[in-house]
Amino acid sequence: MAISVFNSRPLQDESAAYRWVEAQIWPDGPICPHCGGVERISPMKGRSTRIGAYKCYQCRKPFTVKVGTVFESSHIPMRVWLQAMVLMCASKKGVSSNQLHRTLGVSLKTAWFMSHRIREAMRVVGMEPMGGAGKAMEADESFFGRVKGEPKRRGTGHKHVVLALVERGGSSRTFHVEGTRIADLAPIIRENVARESALMTDEGTWYREIGREFSRHETVKHREDEYIRGDAHTNTAENYFSVFKRGMHGVYQHCSEKHLHRYLAEFDFRYSNRAKLGVDDGERTARVLKGIVGKRLTYRTTHN
Ligand SMILES: [Zn+2]
Repeated sequence: MAISVFNSRPLQDESAAYRWVEAQIWPDGPICPHCGGVERISPMKGRSTRIGAYKCYQCRKPFTVKVGTVFESSHIPMRVWLQAMVLMCASKKGVSSNQLHRTLGVSLKTAWFMSHRIREAMRVVGMEPMGGAGKAMEADESFFGRVKGEPKRRGTGHKHVVLALVERGGSSRTFHVEGTRIADLAPIIRENVARESALMTDEGTWYREIGREFSRHETVKHREDEYIRGDAHTNTAENYFSVFKRGMHGVYQHCSEKHLHRYLAEFDFRYSNRAKLGVDDGERTARVLKGIVGKRLTYRTTHN
């Protein structure tokens, strides 16, 4: 655990917490979430005024940095949000709601709600294709958990299928997919991987056709115990899955199907912003904050 980050002022002092969050999402000064105005905005003063309150003199409405973000309409102190973010950013395999509840002193329900909102902030939107010329992109699928109502049996038919796209030396994107038919996988690969990339997969027949669309396609025959041949391997994607599965089994034991994509977003976020890529715990938390805007998540949408 990153004690030094935890002792920093924004995680201890409410005013400092607001100032830090504002600096991350309003680097050029406050923006009114009601009318989009940037001029004639003043901090509200007075003893009864909430910390971080501003008034927009264009639309005459008050606001704080929480409005229009995943923090909206929560009464949780900002410093506690930041503490939760640091914990979730610094723990490779994630943090359970139970752990957040005990560490932060909030109710279990609040902890659960916060962690889903933070996952929502971690979700990347409007993504460019991954990879590119000279880049190796691994595509691999893995089986996880159990589809509701399906009896447990041998094989993988009762499990959820997750497709991982991982750029060597770069980021990851994972998807909860219907199955391993080409129709399940090809549209996602087409949409997310640049054609100039070298595509690395196992021998799954579903990859053969799509592989032709890329500058190069290498496969390894896992069924014949071939795992590496030159630069042909999917070890990077397999490492991703190993962290994901250890986290999901050890920390998040009860993950329903409807929330699986949120957990995938969380593991993608940490993988794509990992220390090896030069991102430390503090910077990772700053990057989550960049994702809080425009992602209001109410109790209702969390429960659905
Ligand atoms: Zn306004």
